[in-house]
Amino acid sequence: MNNLSEDFPILQQKVNDEQLVYLDNAATTQKPRAVVEAITNYYYHDNANVHRGVHTLAERATAQFEAVRKKVAHFINASSEEEIIYTKGTTEGLNWIAASYGETFLKPGDEIVISYMEHHSNLVPWQNLAKKKGAVLKYIDLLPDGQLDMDSAYKQITDKTVIVSLAHASNVLGAVNPIAEVTKIAHLHGAIMVVDGAQSTPHMKIDVQALGIDFFAFSGHKLMAPTGIGILWGKSELLDKMPPLEFGGEMIDWVQLQKTTYKKAPWKFEGGTQNIAGVIGLGAAIDYLESIGMENIASYEKTLIANVLPEMLNIQGIEIYGPLDPEKRTGIISFNLKGLHPHDVATALDMEGVAIRAGHHCAQPLMEYLNVAATARASFYVYNTVADGKKLIEAIKATKEFFNNGIV
Ligand code: PMP
Repeated sequence: MNNLSEDFPILQQKVNDEQLVYLDNAATTQKPRAVVEAITNYYYHDNANVHRGVHTLAERATAQFEAVRKKVAHFINASSEEEIIYTKGTTEGLNWIAASYGETFLKPGDEIVISYMEHHSNLVPWQNLAKKKGAVLKYIDLLPDGQLDMDSAYKQITDKTVIVSLAHASNVLGAVNPIAEVTKIAHLHGAIMVVDGAQSTPHMKIDVQALGIDFFAFSGHKLMAPTGIGILWGKSELLDKMPPLEFGGEMIDWVQLQKTTYKKAPWKFEGGTQNIAGVIGLGAAIDYLESIGMENIASYEKTLIANVLPEMLNIQGIEIYGPLDPEKRTGIISFNLKGLHPHDVATALDMEGVAIRAGHHCAQPLMEYLNVAATARASFYVYNTVADGKKLIEAIKATKEFFNNGIV
């Protein structure tokens, strides 16, 4: 893999007099020049509102906006671009499934099954839906190393289950879940399978048809695209049965004084002026990722983690959460150092130029399950190098020494 960091102007800087090592990619990723230039180019040359205009700029903007829909369909192997809905991000996509599909089809006593490793975005919408509809929210257990407990999945998913919703990859444990296997169980019981792809889509080839799932949501900003743009994919036959959620311009077919007909999916879900520049940035990010190849990204990151993890495990007093086998995880490494608060660890690492995150990572029930208040989290992406991993380890060792010497 070529060193990609030169494509990212933001990475060419010093922080606290040290070369920046950016390891907070699970929160958001940096943007290559190609993405920033695509957005600038759009605003400099093509900016217009889409769909309604007949003038040249409006036609150009519309063509680009709709071309990205096709590109996304290809990127995740959807069977048609009409299954691709533009959203703000994963959170909005998951909320829309709960509010549209969930509110339409759930009945009192029905069950929704998620797991203990879910991000709040894949937990609170279901909790809220269950409360509104008198449904029951159930949780699949985890194994001691943070992988999904499949025995528990078989127990929790029953004929009462209507929706199963799981993270494809955990934002804390790095664990990659066996989605295809869980989908088979869900379908056997007549439930639909929803997947939170926020932490998988940036790092591996996604094939929604091979997974066999019904809905998939992800965020552009975690795969080098701008913030404020995401995708909700759903099977056409489900999208067709679902009511729209936001009413207004763009999503209508015909409006009369007392009644309105809507466009078909995906446009019936896209009320109002969309994040057109964000869509164009997403298209450029997908081009950039595909020029490297998603399989190459996945294997490069596995090698990186296989290099970093054993050295981290050698640090005395470190606890690492999540599976240790690089085949079963992504490049997210959550850890704690004995006797140190993770916020202090993150602050000390920042002094060394290493950007990591500390906190509950929007997964408070998982923190409780792990019996910790918070963790430190280093998360790698394809522009990180083995040298970045070494810098992380050196900085952790320096942090330990600093605090153990009683200076603070
Ligand atoms: N799910 C997971 C697993 C995540 O890591 C995140 C982002 N931290 C989200 C959902 C929510 O994504 P967004 O904030 O972009 O909507």
